[in-house]
Amino acid sequence: MPMNIAIDGPVGAGKSSIADLVAQRLGILHLDTGAMYRAFGLYALRMGADMNDEQAMAALIEQADIQAVCENGEQRTLLFGEDVSALIRTGEVSAAASAVSRWPAVRRSMVRAQQAMAAKADMLIDGRDIGTRVLADSPCKIYLTASAEERARRRYLQQMEKGDTTPYEQVLFELNARDLQDMTRETEPLRQAEDAVLLDTTGMTIEQSVEAIVKIVEEVYGKQS
Ligand code: C5P
Repeated sequence: MPMNIAIDGPVGAGKSSIADLVAQRLGILHLDTGAMYRAFGLYALRMGADMNDEQAMAALIEQADIQAVCENGEQRTLLFGEDVSALIRTGEVSAAASAVSRWPAVRRSMVRAQQAMAAKADMLIDGRDIGTRVLADSPCKIYLTASAEERARRRYLQQMEKGDTTPYEQVLFELNARDLQDMTRETEPLRQAEDAVLLDTTGMTIEQSVEAIVKIVEEVYGKQS
């Protein structure tokens, strides 16, 4: 059985950056499942599809060709072979990802692809339904969170570094709106799995968060050489 680690949590909990560093430390792959939903959100935007139309979304996911590949230790997300990794980080695509991920047919297709990848290799997977669905049988689950204000502040600073001048209040508003949608949808809403370890990183540095997760993993799987 491959070593599979599940990390879930709300927007801006630092899942992707922390998960990347943890995976590097452990020498295993990291799959960012949010990027897959983002790629599908981008596809729906490009096609001008109605994201509130369940049938249309079910038909669109059937045609979509989305792949997550690892290149030089970094995930590249491909939409019909086009590397869209840099195009899927906008606010518009974030909102689209959250809107399209509500639909059961979309989730089924994504979960199937993610489980197939996890069956083949040691992997750390982050998302919203990893501990509750994709890796429901994993013995190692972490629910990563921090206060909404802290998560918004981190995201705001990250975006500023990239030259994005969206005000803090708007970042906080969009973060709360997306969390609300992700936590209240009918299919696989974001929630902490009963057997997940809760890690609140408010006031912790990235390095401290990485250490804490590596410790949790080692308690389950033993020390990795
Ligand atoms: O993690 P990230 O913020 O990139 O995810 C974008 C969106 O994709 C989330 O807001 C959520 O709606 C959706 N998502 C999901 N299930 C996952 C990962 C992401 O529904 N496993």
